[in-house]
Amino acid sequence: MIICQLADSITSFLQSPLDSITNAFNFFTLQQFALKQFTNDQLARSVEAGNPRMAPEQTSKVVETAVENSRNVGTASYLRNPNITEEEKKVIQQILTTGSATSSGVTISHSPKTIEREKNKTGGWSYVINNGSPMLYVTLFRIAKAMGESFVVTCGYRSPEANAQIRNAAKKSLHMRGQALDVGMGSLTTSQKARFIDLASSEGLGGIQYYPSDNFTHIDVGAVRTWVNDAGVRQGGVAIPSEIMDALRRHERGTPAASISSSQLTTSNAQ
Ligand SMILES: [Zn+2]
Repeated sequence: MIICQLADSITSFLQSPLDSITNAFNFFTLQQFALKQFTNDQLARSVEAGNPRMAPEQTSKVVETAVENSRNVGTASYLRNPNITEEEKKVIQQILTTGSATSSGVTISHSPKTIEREKNKTGGWSYVINNGSPMLYVTLFRIAKAMGESFVVTCGYRSPEANAQIRNAAKKSLHMRGQALDVGMGSLTTSQKARFIDLASSEGLGGIQYYPSDNFTHIDVGAVRTWVNDAGVRQGGVAIPSEIMDALRRHERGTPAASISSSQLTTSNAQ
């Protein structure tokens, strides 16, 4: 009985993706179910090839619904600036369909490992946007734009199975809810990494931690916290530079030393 109902809704979804979607949060689950349980050559082959799950023009409604819903996601005093610009909508729409987006001279993309997880349906970015918090990507894009730096996401959504395989991963990781991103710090200087943390803090993100051994920063929409005490100053045997420790302490106190000013946002949006 339940299977029949699902089959009906999946059939109507395949025929008319957007009409059948009244709630973006059901979409990914439904699609995953379709991919796992039903043979639809076109869709399955397309996703296996790493192609968009939906045509870009079909995603705008999903993105808008997801953005709207994400305002209630998480426990942090999240979303200092909840007004999503058209540019930002396009950015998450592009990430949803291809996993990367370039705008205002900066690029948000994903590491090969994350792309692999997306293809194997054990993680990736689409879940973060459909079921988690697309605002994480908007926030990351705002930070990237303010710093004039591109970023590579090394982990978005992580399935419970994938999470279990990672040594030292939190058992209740917000990655499993699509509410966290790990962002590679690339060739940023120590000062720039500290600034990244200050900007993430000032934008209202909750969990922030820099991992020196792998050179990435975890950001999430949970409660305000760092893992300085848990991970220790020497996480992975590598010391966290004091400048970055200071930024993490400022985050704990709610006193970030830098912010993306509204004037800066307005100016860059006009470009
Ligand atoms: Zn993380």
